Amino acid sequence: MRPFGRTGIDVPILSFGGSLNTSLSTLLLRQAVKLGVTYWDTANTYMGGRSEKGMGKYLAKYPADRKRIFLVSKSHAWNIEGMSADLNLSLERMQTDYIDLYFMHSVSSSSELTGDKKAWAEKKKAEGKIRLFGFSTHSNMETCMLAASGLGWIDGIMMRYNYRLMHTDEMRRAMDACSQAGIGLTAMKSQGGGQVKTDNESELKLAGRFIKKGFSDAQAKLKAVWEHPNIASICTEMPNMTQLMSNVAAAMDKTKLSAPERNLLQQYARETRSDCCSGCTAICESTVDDDIPIGDVMRYLMYARSYGDRHRGRKYFQKIPLNIRQQMEGVDYGPAEQRCPQKMAIGKLMREALKELG
Ligand code: SF4
Repeated sequence: MRPFGRTGIDVPILSFGGSLNTSLSTLLLRQAVKLGVTYWDTANTYMGGRSEKGMGKYLAKYPADRKRIFLVSKSHAWNIEGMSADLNLSLERMQTDYIDLYFMHSVSSSSELTGDKKAWAEKKKAEGKIRLFGFSTHSNMETCMLAASGLGWIDGIMMRYNYRLMHTDEMRRAMDACSQAGIGLTAMKSQGGGQVKTDNESELKLAGRFIKKGFSDAQAKLKAVWEHPNIASICTEMPNMTQLMSNVAAAMDKTKLSAPERNLLQQYARETRSDCCSGCTAICESTVDDDIPIGDVMRYLMYARSYGDRHRGRKYFQKIPLNIRQQMEGVDYGPAEQRCPQKMAIGKLMREALKELG
């Protein structure tokens, strides 16, 4: 357990990422609770509502567990009317009268952190429907976090954070600012999965390296993130018992990464940086016209290639408006590629996404 910022609430360092159909996973949720994984993360949109409904099914069956669970959900509505409707629907689906932490889903610019959201959060807290408020962020995380640290009404943030991102100056500054502001921080995308390839020489060098110490490279990547004392928790998908047990084992194990092992992860991150988008969409998307969502497309490719979840990649990709998808192929991505700090082959990847996910 670790404190969630200065909220006065302690949370388990491992959080159950609920982007799956939990209606089919009551036993998995039960085992998670037994193992202490009592921080559950879901969203109004996950699996068309089946994630929240599955958690509701669990809570109806085991009502005594509600107080043990730190329940998080999110709204993707961009206005307070939509947020109110989403919140009420989430409460109904999850068969509970409060949510511990409510997020605006996928904030990518500080301009989204407006005064009306603050007033909304205060009202919902006063009504007892939420205890804490904040946002998740996949893109431009550092600027969003820095902005949030000065606001005084953001209790928690869940951001893309992993062994690739944790050493950059921008992320260090953002982490420090949020920690000083008492904001609870949850890491997601902690495996730093790539989009381009997973069979390069560096991957091979890393694979199995940590086995001598008794854990896998996936567990080592979790450990690298937990080594930051102000990361309260890591939210990660655990769609089956094997994954749950593996992550719990990593959380319980007290072995620290050695300096050479940390260096190895950093070296690997450097060598494979063009495999992995770091979400700095303000850099690349400002070079292309017509609202081409480069960062989102990279993420959908990650779901398909790195997570092996092609269905999810395709589902999200096909939510991009048709006229935007039609424009994607003809765009000159050269200027974006020149500015991309990860040196990603953006044009090639966008065309591959159209073929694979379109
Ligand atoms: S493609 Fe490059 S510039 Fe664009 S968000 Fe990803 S890492 Fe940043």
